[in-house]
Amino acid sequence: MKKSIVFALAALAAASGCRTVPMTGRSQLLLSSAASENELGASAYAEYKAQTPPAADSRQQALLQQVGEAIKNAADEKSFEWEFTVLQSDTVNAFCLPGGKVAVYTGMMEKFANEAELACVVAHEVGHAIARHGGERSSWSTLRSIGTLGISKWGSETAQKAYEIGSEYGVMLPYSRKHENEADLIGLMLMSKAGYDPKAAVDFWKRFGSGNSSKLDELLSTHPCDATRVANLSAHLAEAESLYAACAVKRGLGATLANGLPQ
Ligand SMILES: [Zn+2]
Repeated sequence: MKKSIVFALAALAAASGCRTVPMTGRSQLLLSSAASENELGASAYAEYKAQTPPAADSRQQALLQQVGEAIKNAADEKSFEWEFTVLQSDTVNAFCLPGGKVAVYTGMMEKFANEAELACVVAHEVGHAIARHGGERSSWSTLRSIGTLGISKWGSETAQKAYEIGSEYGVMLPYSRKHENEADLIGLMLMSKAGYDPKAAVDFWKRFGSGNSSKLDELLSTHPCDATRVANLSAHLAEAESLYAACAVKRGLGATLANGLPQ
């Protein structure tokens, strides 16, 4: 790489700045603003909702609202305009787009044994969003493409385009192991602060990771589960349990679920 490009990249990174991830304190590179990420998150969410109808069963929607409300209060992210929707599809996945736009597919709902497991997955996805993993991934891919194309083609339009591509397809791409571990950690703390028993997270990933490793499972293709994940969660369980113990309203495992419906 030419010296001038290296210099320009360094200057760009310095000007755009680093941010510290809430709850973990890790420094990250971000070339996009939270406002622009949230705007793209909102428009992508509208597209998802236009393509896939909401689940008709009001009990499922009400349960997700209840869990979402608790996780939202624990996350305390002022720049988000939260929305929680169960979408009617056999897809076994869930996501949270930038700005707090959460969706859980009915195919995913069927995998939960109880409300706390739903909280675990919602809190994990919210963890990716408050840590701005999408923006961070796009920032690195933007830097790489500037390095490839040369700085002459750099402009705000290029950055915008790179970010749009990242946010359009990024949600269904696997996150890095580093981002997965961080979302697990943030998610575990959020669900505990929200009053859900954090042991449910370890139980869920143990069961989901071992018994259901079909490639058809979208959640596993975007969130690969292995022994590292369970070990990482177990290592932070004591910390999570102290947050849970300090919580005024304890929900425990919450409602029992069967076929995606609260019993
Ligand atoms: Zn994840």
